[in-house]
Amino acid sequence: MALSVFDLFKIGIGPSSSHTVGPMLAAYRFAAPLRDADVARVHVDLYGSLALTGRGHCTDKAVLLGLSGEMPDTVDPDIADPMVERIRSNGRLRFAGRTEIAFDEPRDLVFHMTESLPRHPNALRISARDAVGTIIATETYYSTGGGFVVAESEADVSTHDEVTVPFPFNSGTELLALCKSTGMSLIELVTANEVAFRSAAETDAGLDRIWAAMDACIDRGCKGEGILPGGLNVRRRAGQMYQDLTRRPFFGDPLTVLDWVSLFALAVNEENAAGGRVVTAPTNGAAGVIPAVIAYYRRFVPGADAQGVRNFLLVAGAIGMLYKHLASLSAAEVGCQGEVGVACSMAAAGLAAVMGGTNEQIENAAEIGMEHNLGLTCDPIGGLVQVPCIERNTMGATKAINAARLALHGDGTHHVPLDKVIETMRQTGIDMQAKYKETALGGLAVNMVEC
Ligand code: SF4
Repeated sequence: MALSVFDLFKIGIGPSSSHTVGPMLAAYRFAAPLRDADVARVHVDLYGSLALTGRGHCTDKAVLLGLSGEMPDTVDPDIADPMVERIRSNGRLRFAGRTEIAFDEPRDLVFHMTESLPRHPNALRISARDAVGTIIATETYYSTGGGFVVAESEADVSTHDEVTVPFPFNSGTELLALCKSTGMSLIELVTANEVAFRSAAETDAGLDRIWAAMDACIDRGCKGEGILPGGLNVRRRAGQMYQDLTRRPFFGDPLTVLDWVSLFALAVNEENAAGGRVVTAPTNGAAGVIPAVIAYYRRFVPGADAQGVRNFLLVAGAIGMLYKHLASLSAAEVGCQGEVGVACSMAAAGLAAVMGGTNEQIENAAEIGMEHNLGLTCDPIGGLVQVPCIERNTMGATKAINAARLALHGDGTHHVPLDKVIETMRQTGIDMQAKYKETALGGLAVNMVEC
């Protein structure tokens, strides 16, 4: 398995990695090679979960932006909405950022609410025609979670087969065995693998960029106020909470630390819900967990420094690779286990590593982080990434800190290996009814009336 930590941490925009970032990337990938072609009309079909929760997750907007030549990591979140509004009001789209074509949204962007494609629940098909109506290109894409996109013609583009890493691993057991046989720490081993992709200096700079984007997202979220978009009338809480916490004397209540952790997670996920700039970690719905735990580390753990943040991201990324390889990061496949559950497991491992944990304690922390998220369903009200998603990230972050601390109190020996809990998560996801897997057809999504 040749994955990089930068496959797990990608800068994009909210509110969803599978339903916003992935479809935007797919539409961009479709349009870019046709930049100079004689395209007169483009048509998009959305299937499965992309259709069922696509409106709440802004899949329609993401596709319009991608077809217009915009990429998730470079699109300016402030111009995204006005650009979509212009396309809608003019009925015209600048295909691949170049040729202006007519785009009649009700006709050209179709949500197939009762149809799924067999390969993956998040599917979209795009086709382009010339002026006489002849199809000149068509492709089906699958948004497989965490912003990963696979075309029908591709087996799996999520791994980098062109790169040979010095210490390849396909399971937690292999990872620990490699550490043992080489005498390396997990941080050293993952670092050596990353340097196979790019230089050490570039790796450090990339990790610093990821943390800077996460930190900026916390900052913006702490200034946020008002009502989140989408019609659910969810009020942003982070701004007020930030004001309260900065005014309150800290040492009067030791659990104030928990409030800060919750604040960091709320800030990120409110930004995500508002369509702001976030880092997929490993998904957008779960984007607040890892930044909140890193912010906790930076603010409250003595001796925390910039290298510690890099090490945190490296170890968390390695754990995320295991879930990507052995199970799934897609809520449409395994429910919220694959989003907040995986983020919690990654964050627990990262924190245990930078608090001096042994390789075995780190693996134990990752295992605890998932064990107590098994069975977590995905039932977003109104199909929006708001309730329960935003608060759920505060739970994921605080649980991750507890998991790391529990593991550090032990000696690394424990009953359930990480690989077993990942396999349990995968099987639980298969057994989970479709209505609990990002369809907004079950759970809170049907028991709460939208207002
Ligand atoms: S419930 Fe979890 S998996 Fe579902 S949209 Fe919200 S954060 Fe994502």
